[in-house]
Amino acid sequence: MEKKICSKCGAENPGGNLLCKNCGEELYRPRVEREEEEQETIRRIKSNPAIPWMSIGCILVIVGLGLSIVIQPPSGEYTTTTAKEWETYADFLKYCSIINIIGLLLFMVATIYGMSWNADAIRMIYSKIKKT
Ligand SMILES: [Zn+2]
Repeated sequence: MEKKICSKCGAENPGGNLLCKNCGEELYRPRVEREEEEQETIRRIKSNPAIPWMSIGCILVIVGLGLSIVIQPPSGEYTTTTAKEWETYADFLKYCSIINIIGLLLFMVATIYGMSWNADAIRMIYSKIKKT
């Protein structure tokens, strides 16, 4: 088999080797090409469209929880005169929990989508490596 000279360290390798036996450099794909592919993958991961939606989900959870902690229940017992206040408070808690649930769902869906986006970006590199 034809011998292959390593472009990084100059060591002579048997033709069948994919990596240099001396320094581990890949023998069949130019370094510049590999770096470009890596940069492209990093760019794709950084521009993940799920990130803003994950943040919005987080903010909604914080707002929902925060409001339900900060806003205090009406003072005084549940009487006919305070009934309206207590009802308003109960409604308020209901809205807080709806905000929480929407925030959590948004965060979870965005996270799952974001992870698959990153996985695809990484897979792209490997499909290119396999071709060369
Ligand atoms: Zn080498």
